Amino acid sequence: MTANRHVVLVGGGHAHLHVVRAAASLHGAGAQVTLVAPRYFWYSGLATAVVGGSREPAEDRIDLAELTQRCGVHWHDGSVTSVRANERKLVLDDGRVLDYDVASFNIGSEVDLPEPLPSDPRLWPVKPIAGLARLRAELCSQRRDSPLRVTVVGGGPTGCEVMGNLAGLARREGLDVRLTLCHAGDRLLPDAPAGAARRVAANLQGRGVTLRAGCRLGFTDTGEARLDEAPAEADYLVAATGLRAVGLARTLGATSDGIPVTATLQHPQYPTLFAVGDCAHFLPRPLPRVGVFGVRQAPILQVNLAAALNEGVLRAYHPQRRYLTILNLGDGTGLALRGRWWWHGRLMLAWKHRLDRDFLQRQRC
Ligand SMILES: Cc1cc2nc3c(=O)[nH]c(=O)nc-3n(C[C@H](O)[C@H](O)[C@H](O)COP(=O)(O)OP(=O)(O)OC[C@H]3O[C@@H](n4cnc5c(N)ncnc54)[C@H](O)[C@@H]3O)c2cc1C
Repeated sequence: MTANRHVVLVGGGHAHLHVVRAAASLHGAGAQVTLVAPRYFWYSGLATAVVGGSREPAEDRIDLAELTQRCGVHWHDGSVTSVRANERKLVLDDGRVLDYDVASFNIGSEVDLPEPLPSDPRLWPVKPIAGLARLRAELCSQRRDSPLRVTVVGGGPTGCEVMGNLAGLARREGLDVRLTLCHAGDRLLPDAPAGAARRVAANLQGRGVTLRAGCRLGFTDTGEARLDEAPAEADYLVAATGLRAVGLARTLGATSDGIPVTATLQHPQYPTLFAVGDCAHFLPRPLPRVGVFGVRQAPILQVNLAAALNEGVLRAYHPQRRYLTILNLGDGTGLALRGRWWWHGRLMLAWKHRLDRDFLQRQRC
């Protein structure tokens, strides 16, 4: 069939990896498919293992140049800077304008920090993930007479995982570091069972981490970081203060929660525009910003993109209520959380490694 339609996938996130691999179905529906994305997809599931040094950065990324070529998808190495949805046009970072019949956004999230990003050079947001690989390299290259003070801000799953793996890195590399985990609440992991939070707190403290509860990150007008209104005494400040949709996504809706989408993953005003994953604001109910939702949306998105091209029937996505999270604590153990249940031990980390390996292998074959 001649391709006389154009599907543009913006962002190489979890769901778009699936759509690219299954692009034959869109080709069969008479469409040419283009992916606009930076060259590498970084997988957050392994990101903290990269911080801790148990995985190499190259193991944690998928080469989209290679994947798109294998699947017959055009690839533009770059990003979309603005959207003219009324005209079905996307403006690219090199100034070119791309027409589309159907477009889908899977452009992810960023750390919730003031805009523009404060200029304090000690600040390391946990996203983009590639920055965490650079952080590890930098910490390992430091040679000093006094201990390196590394503070992680954020007591959620990401902050705890990053801190556990920094403790693991210090041990593995023999680094002289003083590690502090600051969090705004009165306990770690506020959404997890209290017993699980106590286990993680004891684990981190047992490995030399200082915990500071009720502590907030702020910035002066000149962009200098402060903790609890006082100058932050740290050489590195890793910000894990929660995720929000990336800036472009926050411009595409009435609120700044992300690109609004209905149950069929379509923008309510622009039905040829779809969004999935962390950049989407799922109107039926807000979804947590974790990778599993993008992964589960992928097959529905795939079917709906083809249906939108041919005025077919679209399917609704029904998100699950509960989901499994496994934290890599950086000491060879994992903490699995699902609703009010939790389990801690080496077996949990082995389980996580298996899930991560299976996901990455699927993208590479
Ligand atoms: C340290 C860390 C660990 C985490 N661990 C887990 C975990 O174990 N399990 C879990 O479920 N979740 C985890 N998360 C959350 C997880 O990162 C996100 O929920 C997930 O990545 C969202 O996936 P996504 O497909 O929406 O977007 P992403 O995976 O973020 O992909 C979006 C892509 O779009 C690209 N992009 C951005 N803007 C543009 C643009 N304008 N044009 C073109 N391309 C663009 C980006 O470069 C990126 O490659 C973790 C997060 C962090 C920070």
